[in-house]
Amino acid sequence: WSKETVAVVTGANRGIGYEIARQLAVHGLHVVLTSRDFDRALGATTNLQAEGLSVQPCQLDITDAGSVMSFASWIQLEHGGIDVLVNNAGVNFNRGADNSVEFAEIVIKTNYYGTKRMIETMLPLMRPSSFGARIVNVSSRLGRANGRRNKISDPTLRENLMKDETLSEELLDEMLTNFLSQVNYGAWQNGGWPQMYTDYSLSKLALNVYTRLTARRLAERLGTHRVYINCFCPGWVKTQMTNWEGNMSTEEGADTGVWMALLPVENISSGSFYAERREIDF
Ligand code: NDP
Repeated sequence: WSKETVAVVTGANRGIGYEIARQLAVHGLHVVLTSRDFDRALGATTNLQAEGLSVQPCQLDITDAGSVMSFASWIQLEHGGIDVLVNNAGVNFNRGADNSVEFAEIVIKTNYYGTKRMIETMLPLMRPSSFGARIVNVSSRLGRANGRRNKISDPTLRENLMKDETLSEELLDEMLTNFLSQVNYGAWQNGGWPQMYTDYSLSKLALNVYTRLTARRLAERLGTHRVYINCFCPGWVKTQMTNWEGNMSTEEGADTGVWMALLPVENISSGSFYAERREIDF
């Protein structure tokens, strides 16, 4: 890898994102470390630069269309484009057994719509390369449509989300709008939604489905113009999001994402879901 390879990591001022940024830079890439707060991006960048790594800070709030547009313009001017995009930024307000949906709108707006905005804004800036430009989405096993313990109970909706022929952005929008309106009316408990961390699980389910949808669209690009998109679950990682509970360090949580970002192009798939460096079911 060389410093000519530019990777962008969202929400990289702390937690798994910080560690992904660090590991990518250790592999020799130039990393643009973004945070919704510029000073936090600068602090994290300064730490990594002190280790001799090639890292640059930038402000980026994925829920703010203006911030995302300014970021894209800055990238265009500064680097002409990017090679790797790691969509790591995310929120979850539930802890332990709590399943409040008080912040459902923010959760869905950030984890799904914010990430989708990043994908769509950055795609035109992904440079053609023999390395194979790629997008890595940090997701969660909680967002599995067919999860054993945490799933959508309506078999028709589940099937429509799983089948390529019925999968669509409209289906996702309809599902999320329906959930959020049930939240507003206090009627979501009987809506057949995933039982654990319902709003978070749905946001990641939507991100997983969108990963598959986008992969299908990107498969039409050929040769060096190909862009690969996949998602992964980092495991249960000790970060602020889990109140430092979990059974994995951020180093371990970042591992599969970094591995996906650096896989040789002949070994990479697109539209897949990974955990512990293996492909898993959606
Ligand atoms: P943290 O809470 O430590 O980090 C989340 C990061 O996302 C922070 O940098 C935060 O910034 C940033 N962020 C939040 N909202 C926005 C926004 N609107 N725009 C830009 N950045 C934003 O959590 P983790 O490191 O644990 O989580 C990273 C990713 O991993 C998330 O997508 C999460 O869902 C996923 N994940 C985590 C698991 C775990 O066990 N920890 C398990 C499965 C998935 P700020 O500092 O400003 O708040």
